[in-house]
Amino acid sequence: MEASTRCAVGALALAYIATPALRAFRVGYLTDFFAPSLAAVLMLRYWSGGRKEVVRELRGIATDWTVTPLRAVVGCADLTVPLLDRVARLLSAALTLPKYAVSYGPLCPILYTRWGDVASEVGFIATRSFAVSTQLSPLAIAVWVACFVAVLRIYVASIELVQHRFWSHGCFEPASRPVAWLLWVWGAAGGQGGALTWVAIHRRHHRFTDAPGDPHSPHAPPREACAGATPVAHPYPRGCGLAYAHFFWMTDRDNFAFQPQYVGDLYRSMPELLLLELLSGRVGPLWSRGAEEIVFRLATACLAHDPFESWHHPAALRALASDVCFLAFEVMTQGSWAVNSVLHMSAAGHGGAALGRSVDAPWLAHWLGGGHIHRSHHAEPKLATVAAAEQTDFCDHFTRAMERAGLVRRVRRRSTEEEVKKD
Ligand SMILES: [Zn+2]
Ligand SMILES: [Zn+2]
Repeated sequence: MEASTRCAVGALALAYIATPALRAFRVGYLTDFFAPSLAAVLMLRYWSGGRKEVVRELRGIATDWTVTPLRAVVGCADLTVPLLDRVARLLSAALTLPKYAVSYGPLCPILYTRWGDVASEVGFIATRSFAVSTQLSPLAIAVWVACFVAVLRIYVASIELVQHRFWSHGCFEPASRPVAWLLWVWGAAGGQGGALTWVAIHRRHHRFTDAPGDPHSPHAPPREACAGATPVAHPYPRGCGLAYAHFFWMTDRDNFAFQPQYVGDLYRSMPELLLLELLSGRVGPLWSRGAEEIVFRLATACLAHDPFESWHHPAALRALASDVCFLAFEVMTQGSWAVNSVLHMSAAGHGGAALGRSVDAPWLAHWLGGGHIHRSHHAEPKLATVAAAEQTDFCDHFTRAMERAGLVRRVRRRSTEEEVKKD
């Protein structure tokens, strides 16, 4: 294929992937979201580093929209770079642009709608739960609580077990390619992007823990790794590090670019991950609809012969099933964000490049399912579980079940610790 044809194919691919961003840039979006968000970001940049930080931000935006995509398109014709690396660069440039449409700055649509929706939905659910609680039998309450716990644990495992332990650290191996695809779907169900995006961010976190370059530290700015620039203050005012590490880091353009160098091993061994990354946004809604349907059917079956149950109406059961799944998802999301924020807030001394300021938090055991033993994880990241015998790690129960079923193998446990350290 001619170099010009390769460039044209690259440009078409980039335009196709970035179309959602281009479509979102309507006048209403620009005035309601982008302009106020940009103004807020520029103020924060000025606050943290003066005029040069403002110029740097504006230059960064211009680069994301012109130089980076152009380089990726022209790079398609560069035969000295392996094909998969060229595709990864193109994907990275193209996936950066849609982020401006949904998650740029502290006033972006995703935070506005997400927090707005959550606040109104939680208020609505609380009111409804209070109203129905007096009419629910003890059996019904037990069934709904059990459903909530089960759905929550499956969601927690999608992030902690699949995205984190499996894709990021390779704590075990899938028995076959289809099992790896199923794990990809389970991981994407957590609503935090596909495996490549998640892993690229997390491996950067391990590489620069709580030092400049960490994408979501409450203590250090993320940009060092991206630009190699001189150290700057945290982009958010003093005291806001917790909020930055919890969710504002996702709105920072320094974290938009998906950095292929952190996930080269994954897409070289499974090139289809590059394609799957484009579908990751569709998995969450499908998964939550499936979960609602299963919870609805289970509850209907369990409560069909409950003599004290007055809530037999299918519409009421469906509404409760939807509430249970929504709450489980939101509770999981806050928990997984808390690992980045609360578990790195320690004011104690820096534990070095590997440990940072991470801490273990036994009080979060039943919420984070093993993710709470975070400092121990930073010390031995390749272990499938770092939990001692008396510690809770319900994600490890999923690993053991998959191992017994022959779905995964070579699970890295303490008995293989020496092998782990060699890596
Ligand atoms: Zn950490
Ligand atoms: Zn990790």
